[in-house]
Amino acid sequence: MRKSVVAIVGKPNVGKSTIFNRLVGERISIVEDTPGVTRDRIYAEAEWLNTKFDLIDTGGIEIGDEPLLVQMRQQAEIAIDEADVIIFMVNGREGITAADEEVAKILYKTNKPVVLAVNKIDNPEMNDRIYDFYTLGFGEPYPISGTHGLGLGDMLDEVIKHFPDKTMEDADDDMIRFSLIGRPNVGKSSLVNAILGEDRVIVSEIAGTTRDAVDTRFKKDGEEFVIIDTAGMRKKGKIYETTEKYSVVRALRAIERSDVVLVVIDAETGIIEQDKRIAGYAHEAGKAIVIVVNKWDAIEVDDKTMKKFEEDIRREFQFLDYAPVVFLSAKTKKRLHTLMPNIIEASENHAKRVQTNVLNEVIMDALAMNPAPTVKGKKLKLFYATQVSVKPPTFVVFVNDPELMHFSYERFLENRIRDAFGFEGTPIRIYARKRS
Ligand code: GDP
Ligand code: GDP
Repeated sequence: MRKSVVAIVGKPNVGKSTIFNRLVGERISIVEDTPGVTRDRIYAEAEWLNTKFDLIDTGGIEIGDEPLLVQMRQQAEIAIDEADVIIFMVNGREGITAADEEVAKILYKTNKPVVLAVNKIDNPEMNDRIYDFYTLGFGEPYPISGTHGLGLGDMLDEVIKHFPDKTMEDADDDMIRFSLIGRPNVGKSSLVNAILGEDRVIVSEIAGTTRDAVDTRFKKDGEEFVIIDTAGMRKKGKIYETTEKYSVVRALRAIERSDVVLVVIDAETGIIEQDKRIAGYAHEAGKAIVIVVNKWDAIEVDDKTMKKFEEDIRREFQFLDYAPVVFLSAKTKKRLHTLMPNIIEASENHAKRVQTNVLNEVIMDALAMNPAPTVKGKKLKLFYATQVSVKPPTFVVFVNDPELMHFSYERFLENRIRDAFGFEGTPIRIYARKRS
């Protein structure tokens, strides 16, 4: 199910990032050590009353060298585009300023719900300071204190109340949703056009969840697919391309809603650092991944080129060793037919469930082949394994002491599971848990 998105806007220093960090908390990422993956503290998952949502701190999106006022306006535009609900934050110690009014002016243009949060109300005696803010025209102001953690519950109750009804979106779950990510000019839009070429049947254009996002649904080879959000990306053009952090937010949004992510690389320019970072996001999100090397027509190839390129990819994207690589040209459509079968396979593996008894046979065989290590005189014991979820396939291994399960042994088990069940195209996750 798609998570709702909440964006925080407001002029600098009202406390946006303080609130963001408080709501997001310290979440340790599973692939914290993945090289090339920078932690992005402007976009993260938060939770209130068992409802998970994605939170964006638009204050962290720097827009080139633009003057502050322009940046604030654009951040508000981004919030309007990306979010289901907007938290408009002001400073209760200051009263309404011209900068608040500038932000308000942009927010008046949207029909999306705006919750007005008056921050820095550090004690109840200050509560009467919120009344001035009614004149901003966003209804009841919510007093909060980021530093003291006050009022956040009431504010979040109001935010959650406005989350869109999701029942509609769950209807067609057989469709394979995929998105294309990659830095500008690798050929994402050309590839979308090529995929949606003559032989496709566009079933409909689903009005997306955000104003600009239009998902395209089509049928091919008897399967139904949805291409996510690329229209929105194309349309956004200027801000999207010139603002690294904004393009990250958009890519993360698209990834979030996908089953399969196509990581598009340009054969002509080869792999650069930015490609790795983008691929890291998809990996981290636990999505199925197909690596697409586009513009294959533009380079000279002999019978070794493909192999050599694939070796480069394996070296540069070590964390994506499960992802198939497809070489093609969006322009000439050469080898384009190899793409959809890879998307379908990755998607099937992403949703695959294995039988518990077979899984345990595989684990026991693995143990016999390579006994668990002894760490500081303590030996890891494995009792039982089970698959707890799909998308991505996630396994829990019950052990005597999870501390003894080291990365290398986990890696070994992952490889055994992959050999036995074939999870090509999807990450899998293994957690060690203490048998109680
Ligand atoms: P941002 O620029 O909107 O992201 O604001 P920050 O989160 O960086 O906060 C700006 C300053 O306001 C920092 O010095 C914070 O410590 C302070 N601040 C944030 N929340 C509160 C609050 O609830 N009460 C008080 N008194 N100060 C706060
Ligand atoms: P995007 O920014 O990733 O959406 O990239 P575009 O689809 O706009 O393509 C960027 C440029 O690369 C355009 O000039 C395209 O014509 C060109 N291009 C895209 N795909 C191919 C391809 O397969 N071969 C060649 N030679 N050029 C391509």
